[in-house]
Amino acid sequence: MRRQRRTKVVATLGPASGDRTMIGRLFAAGADVFRINMSHTSHERMRELVAMIRSVEAENNRPIGILVDLQGPKLRLGAFKNDAATIDKDQNFVFDTDQAPGDSTRVYLPHPEIFAAIKPGDTLLIDDGKLRLQATETGPQRIVARVEVGGKVSNRKGVSLPDTVIPLAALAPKDLADLEAALDAGIDWVALSFIQRPEDIAEAKKITRGRAAVMAKIEKPQAVARLNDILDLADALMVARGDLGVEMPLEKVPGVQKDMTRACRRAGKPVVVATQMLESMIASPVPTRAEVSDVATAIFDGADAIMLSAESAAGQYPVEAVATMNRIAEQVESDAIYLPSLHVLHTEPESTGADAIAAATRQVAETLDLAAIVCWTSSGSTGLRVSRERPRSPIVAISPIVAAGRKLSVAWGIHCVIAEDAHDQDDMVERACRLAFKEGFAKAGQRIIIVAGLPLGTPGATNMMRIAFVGAETGGEM
Ligand code: PGA
Ligand code: MN
Repeated sequence: MRRQRRTKVVATLGPASGDRTMIGRLFAAGADVFRINMSHTSHERMRELVAMIRSVEAENNRPIGILVDLQGPKLRLGAFKNDAATIDKDQNFVFDTDQAPGDSTRVYLPHPEIFAAIKPGDTLLIDDGKLRLQATETGPQRIVARVEVGGKVSNRKGVSLPDTVIPLAALAPKDLADLEAALDAGIDWVALSFIQRPEDIAEAKKITRGRAAVMAKIEKPQAVARLNDILDLADALMVARGDLGVEMPLEKVPGVQKDMTRACRRAGKPVVVATQMLESMIASPVPTRAEVSDVATAIFDGADAIMLSAESAAGQYPVEAVATMNRIAEQVESDAIYLPSLHVLHTEPESTGADAIAAATRQVAETLDLAAIVCWTSSGSTGLRVSRERPRSPIVAISPIVAAGRKLSVAWGIHCVIAEDAHDQDDMVERACRLAFKEGFAKAGQRIIIVAGLPLGTPGATNMMRIAFVGAETGGEM
């Protein structure tokens, strides 16, 4: 089974997609990676979902990525008398440390860190930015704020402070427990929510110790401001447009999306564009024209993956949403301007053997119009360097490590096959040809290019490329 597109699709699982049959249908429709959102999933449920995904993987004999998304330090209000209150524009509203239920004049804010960090003039947003207040007086136990946009507020609504750097640990106790459970379950990627600093990534990496790759969700302006330092430490980024659009002016989000895509492509690390991509498909079998255009824009910019949230987790048309992304990607990628426009933003290879060979491979593959680029990669890093080049020829990565194949499922253009390492160079060439044939990437008589590091299995030793003919009957080398 091969996909007819390079851009990957991430589908979030939830009540609309939590059984084995549905996961199988989502995979068949085009989902390459499944996301489990720990804000709404118990450990037991997470383990069940992982088992179901692994069973779909085994049935289809294709590595599938599992991304576990940690809730992160989401700040919330306390509760209200009668569960809600209405606050009006221009009134004063108080946040304090009194646990008594709130009303239209005050509420409990169970986060001492906020009292310590906020300054007069800073903005407080409640409930995804529906209400906006500005702090006028601040102190260790009390914040007085003027209401700029009022409305109804109910128990434990989220609070965001776009102007304030809050010295919160990136991983709350719940996140630490969720992370341990997820690592135990053998997941591939962990997404960190609401990170603010590169140190937040370092903290998570100390725990993951290579057991899962780390994706930094960029959803706060503080993180946007330190994007490059964060990208240095993270294995991938997610453009988390939902919260980003709450924490910064909405009209800035498209520019940030483009900056992030460019930064990730330069670094050769995957970038996932997320949230509201096909939002109307939560309740409708067809998307809006604007949504199709938004998905297409992410693809034209060269994003590695596009993501569905509520569309696949809680909507009425999860399969249709995945199939729609699949169709848009196939169509955009077959457009004559797709690859040329991707290459406008191409940056020079970094000065490493792997990058030099990856760039040369793309050049040779294009000059000779080769059927596929086959790379032997154990950790997946050679695969990522080839993907960074955004070559026209499909990339087949062969790895003996199933975890590496699963991790690569989020990366642009890589079709990963799990197979044991080659015994010697002849075996490597012959099996590369056979696999390219068998997986539907090369026909008999076509040529492929093989990239590897010799001796095989040495990380970071990419040092070889070789052109080979795919033979007639078996697809073995001629
Ligand atoms: P969420 O993250 O779905 O976990 O909120 C994505 C976003 O904010 O866009
Ligand atoms: Mn978010």
